Amino acid sequence: MKNLAIVGAGLVGSFLSIYLRKRGYNVSVFERRPDMRKSGEYAGRSINLALSNRGLRALEEVGLAEKVKPVAIPLHGRTMHDVKGNLSFLPYGTQGQFINSISRSGLNIVLMDEAERLGVNIHFGQRIQHVDLEKNSIDN
Ligand SMILES: Cc1cc2nc3c(=O)[nH]c(=O)nc-3n(C[C@H](O)[C@H](O)[C@H](O)COP(=O)(O)OP(=O)(O)OC[C@H]3O[C@@H](n4cnc5c(N)ncnc54)[C@H](O)[C@@H]3O)c2cc1C
Repeated sequence: MKNLAIVGAGLVGSFLSIYLRKRGYNVSVFERRPDMRKSGEYAGRSINLALSNRGLRALEEVGLAEKVKPVAIPLHGRTMHDVKGNLSFLPYGTQGQFINSISRSGLNIVLMDEAERLGVNIHFGQRIQHVDLEKNSIDN
């Protein structure tokens, strides 16, 4: 079985590790930060993410959409502020369409939990300094 290394356990790295693990690879993820589930230190960008249908489809493919949907807040449009201070509402669609506001760290934690449940090894506190694609090696 092939061994794969991913640098970064953010949204993309954690998600990709699930995909590749499900395809049968041995996956190790190296993350420079401590484990946010233990340290309480949340991902640097703290505002909620706007998760679209495209993002939900990706989560559906790895069986996580139903876990995430209950904690997502539907946003049906945006409120505009004009120069006089008046507010107007611009809906995202005419048929009740909405985007989903979700905690970035919460989503990251769901992804890391699932990755580890499937057997991905996440190594925290490991800042990768160099990747050598010729030698297939990484250095911290
Ligand atoms: C203010 C802001 C708001 C956003 N809002 C939205 C939104 O509403 N909806 C949306 O879809 N997207 C949004 N985005 C974009 C979204 O954040 C990114 O597309 C997404 O985070 C990219 O995921 P990533 O895993 O590539 O990067 P990140 O989430 O940044 O994760 C990268 C990880 O790699 C680690 N890392 C970096 N270098 C190393 C190293 N040398 N060694 C080891 N680990 C390392 C970092 O610690 C981090 O954990 C927003 C971005 C910003 C900045």
